[in-house]
Amino acid sequence: MFKTLFFLTFLFLNSLFAVPLSHKMVQDKVWGRGETLLAFLQENMIPLKLYYELDSEDEKLLADIRINTLYQVLKDENGQIEQVLLPLNDELELHIMIGEDGEYKASVIPIIYETNKKSLMITFEDIPSKDILKKTENYELSLAITQLFRKIVNFKKIRLGDKLIVYYTEKKRLGKFFGEQKIEAAMIEEGGKKRYQFLALDGKYYDQKGKTTNTSSFIVPCRYKRISSRFTQKRWHPILKRYRAHHGIDYATPIGTAIKAAYSGKVIFAGRKGGYGKTVVLKHASGYKTLYAHLNSYKVHVGQKVKTGQLIARSGNTGRSTGPHLHFGLSLNNRWINPALKIVFTKGLSGSKRAAFNASTKIYMQKMKNLLEVDKCSSKVGVSLEELDSSEENSTKDAV
Ligand SMILES: [Zn+2]
Repeated sequence: MFKTLFFLTFLFLNSLFAVPLSHKMVQDKVWGRGETLLAFLQENMIPLKLYYELDSEDEKLLADIRINTLYQVLKDENGQIEQVLLPLNDELELHIMIGEDGEYKASVIPIIYETNKKSLMITFEDIPSKDILKKTENYELSLAITQLFRKIVNFKKIRLGDKLIVYYTEKKRLGKFFGEQKIEAAMIEEGGKKRYQFLALDGKYYDQKGKTTNTSSFIVPCRYKRISSRFTQKRWHPILKRYRAHHGIDYATPIGTAIKAAYSGKVIFAGRKGGYGKTVVLKHASGYKTLYAHLNSYKVHVGQKVKTGQLIARSGNTGRSTGPHLHFGLSLNNRWINPALKIVFTKGLSGSKRAAFNASTKIYMQKMKNLLEVDKCSSKVGVSLEELDSSEENSTKDAV
């Protein structure tokens, strides 16, 4: 199975780069608001049974495609579609292709990434996000950095000459930045004062003393018996022999259980939403949204403002659901994230996680100190920052 998947993707990549464009055409397209696979198939005269053959879980993934997702279409010399590669989330994509029998087939396959460990140092000359974009052309990274320091730094207080250092993993799909550009360590100066954030083994960020600065603590939205399904972007289902994703946490709970707003915000949706059944969506500050699905009844209406803990609905078993439960989804800038990372259960790191955190933090702090010192000297002797940066990049790569 894995071999076939890689072969298929290889075929696509191969045709993408090796076949002269005069014969075949690869087009980059953008998934627009309200776009559906059904309409896409219709438009391109691909049999609609392809859509109807998808199972309910894949159907949910299709409904969750981020607006503005870049996808690829390969056409033959007559303009007929040979292959389509459409990312469904950060880890999976839908692959449509004509088989040897001339029939279209669709399957969900893992996205193949090119990843590189990178470091970045910037001396601010303009608005931070602009400076980051200018230097990296990586919009996802710029977004991730501002998000990480959102509650820690007042970006308006950043002065010209303040510095930013970031160690991260750069991810590219088909040569373009795509998916989460994971930050491992970062330092930003705010009027000369240094603020740090380090990624720990629990997937959360802490400062150099191991204190969590994550103040956006969402609450668990209901009382529950057990968690029946956790968040995952890519899971191989050994029985179904296919890839699955689950964009939320399922809390098994009897029908009629009180569902509370996980954070204060505004109701932007209350109604039926495909496989999700009766659903409420709340919009919160700073790009967060929460989704509550398979509900029995609504206790709020669109446009209403709600406070953390306020009753918004009663749980149920509507939509594509295998038993009474609440499906709780959390998105940040329209990307599904693991709610468990934003619900604060623990006071901080302890035991082996704490020890590992202390060790890696020490290394990153030293690296940053060295970078800043070299930078100080270089401004005296005239070595350009670019040179410093690239040499640091290489050494990081070697070390991993
Ligand atoms: Zn669910």
